[in-house]
Amino acid sequence: MDAPGSGLFFAPAGMRVLVSASPKPHPAPWPLLPASCPPAILPSVALDVAAIFAEEYRALRPRAPMPPVEVRFRRFTSLNTTIRLREGRLFASLSDLLEGAPDPVLHAIAHILLAKLYRRPIDRAQNLRYKRFAASAAVQRQTELIRTTRGSKRYYGPEGRYYHLEEVFDALNARFFCGLLGRPNLTWSEHHAKRSLGHYDAAHNTIVVSRVFDRPSSPRYAIEYLLYHEMLHLKHPVRMNGLRRSVHSREFKADEARFPQLAEALAFLKRL
Ligand SMILES: [Zn+2]
Repeated sequence: MDAPGSGLFFAPAGMRVLVSASPKPHPAPWPLLPASCPPAILPSVALDVAAIFAEEYRALRPRAPMPPVEVRFRRFTSLNTTIRLREGRLFASLSDLLEGAPDPVLHAIAHILLAKLYRRPIDRAQNLRYKRFAASAAVQRQTELIRTTRGSKRYYGPEGRYYHLEEVFDALNARFFCGLLGRPNLTWSEHHAKRSLGHYDAAHNTIVVSRVFDRPSSPRYAIEYLLYHEMLHLKHPVRMNGLRRSVHSREFKADEARFPQLAEALAFLKRL
């Protein structure tokens, strides 16, 4: 069932589950926060779900030392779920479709992923529980709905040829926002647009980045600056200043000035 070495498995319900013991380039591991950040609990880190994973780990490996466990919900177009072991730490990435799943289902998912990771037999009852949930009409409908909105023509996804927008976003989020910014939908534009390099579409909670940045000749600081600018729009929503709309407020500009390669980035954008 599992192709050795590829790390690809097929979940019981026919959904793809990626299990790997080695780091994968995309999406990159969660970046570490700068020391200046408060020890805040990241909203996207699911502590209660991490506890479920720890419980299932203990059941599966009663005498093995307990690795630190980190669980996050990510936006996937399907019920994709991944787990990886990296430098003795367990990182699980669950589709945000599973965010409201009942505890027994989360236990089942944790069990299945850990069993696959450590090559142990999967418990039948757990397997069945997961299968039933995955097949339930509510989930199906939600999956379909998300696929139609996220997979629509105007949504091309965050994965480019050279840059992965989610990876760049996560790194910037850690570096400048202590990881506290909720990640919106991120997508490359359809064309190599030069007039609109990037914009934040509040109605669809989507940041669109022009494909002109997805080439090797485009330095990382350029796309970082562009994404950072759009992320500041999330942090500083448009305000009414009397009758004027304040899009780039004083606070916005002060934050923007914190970007170290601002001058280089602006110069690069001008040359496009
Ligand atoms: Zn702007």
